[in-house]
Amino acid sequence: MEAPEIGPDLSLLKGLKFACLDGCGYCCLFQPDVDVKEEKRLRDMGLSWAVTKSHFSGSPAIKLQGKGGGCTFLRNGRCRIYPDRPHFCREFPFHVYLGERVQVIPNLSCRGLWPDTESNRKYLTPPQSAEDAARPFVERIRPDMLGSPKETFRKFHEELEKNGTGCPKPLLNKIAGAVKGELTEYRGIASLLEFSWEYSGEPLPPNEIADKIRGWEPETDLKEEAVLGATDALGLENPADLPIYVDEKLDWHLFQVSGNRIIHRKMTEKGPDRDADSMPIDSVPLAAPDEEAKALLSEYIDILLKRDSFYGYVAYLLSEEEFENSLLNAYLGTLATSILDLLWRASMLSKFEGGGKKLGRRELLNGIVFYDGDILDAPALGEFV
Ligand code: SF4
Ligand code: SF4
Repeated sequence: MEAPEIGPDLSLLKGLKFACLDGCGYCCLFQPDVDVKEEKRLRDMGLSWAVTKSHFSGSPAIKLQGKGGGCTFLRNGRCRIYPDRPHFCREFPFHVYLGERVQVIPNLSCRGLWPDTESNRKYLTPPQSAEDAARPFVERIRPDMLGSPKETFRKFHEELEKNGTGCPKPLLNKIAGAVKGELTEYRGIASLLEFSWEYSGEPLPPNEIADKIRGWEPETDLKEEAVLGATDALGLENPADLPIYVDEKLDWHLFQVSGNRIIHRKMTEKGPDRDADSMPIDSVPLAAPDEEAKALLSEYIDILLKRDSFYGYVAYLLSEEEFENSLLNAYLGTLATSILDLLWRASMLSKFEGGGKKLGRRELLNGIVFYDGDILDAPALGEFV
């Protein structure tokens, strides 16, 4: 079958390799949506009991086990309907995002996308380029699927123009490119945050903004900001709403903020373990990335900036705030809080392991794995299909 004319952008997959890891099953902790055909197939198989409403989107999806456990078809790490599993499961860790165009986005929470460090690793699918792995999936995208998201973005830009708070996308990209180097240091993150709160003029040329950020004297208590962000993401009561972290041994973990403590539980197919350990949320340091970790963080920022869904997330936040902020401020502020959240999570994982105030490449990578699992849960204009 020929690729659809709307030409999905696969550029985010370049240079990535993918192999599904035996014994992982992490993606079976997400609740898979089912489309009309898949719902019918499950009904024909006598499995209509397994279809429910997604706790997240409200659309038809497969039931989860217990309170926040894995998919109901997951048993001892194996799928009971493997040949008939929905498209979500076939396509993971690749997501098709419809915004102003179609883009395929890799979910970097999948350990199968990171180069293997263990020689005895067994694969469920042989290693191949991510582009080859994802190509068959994009064939199901029809040009008419893009109509509604494109219209949403047209209205979004119209509203920005009406308010005089827009910023052309190419300029936004150049500004983000000019300041991204500052984001590997906490001082730069704090400066960018304050700039995004305080700047009220027209978008300045990229080098002028970068100079302002470098010369800024930030006063923000960044640890307090990080805790606020962590509480937002990890403070939800229902375990089914919380992100899960998969470690290097492919064990699953749940972290929940409760009061002033962060509670850690192992996850099983049936839901979170009863046993828990915890620590005061204040005891998580903002650990500083070393040079190798900074290089990896910089690569990740590049990926984030190229994701159409990141722009869609900022657009969603602006729309929710009824366009009170400018696009530039919202974009830079969201970038700074995203990186702060990632660094806090990397620091928290390291602290639970007994780590200190430094983050190496391994600890930073673990933070990315944890943080990137939230892609699908972050609201955005446009949609994942
Ligand atoms: S998360 Fe990735 S490696 Fe793990 S089972 Fe899913 S696709 Fe395979
Ligand atoms: S249907 Fe199968 S592959 Fe998909 S989430 Fe459930 S157990 Fe995993």
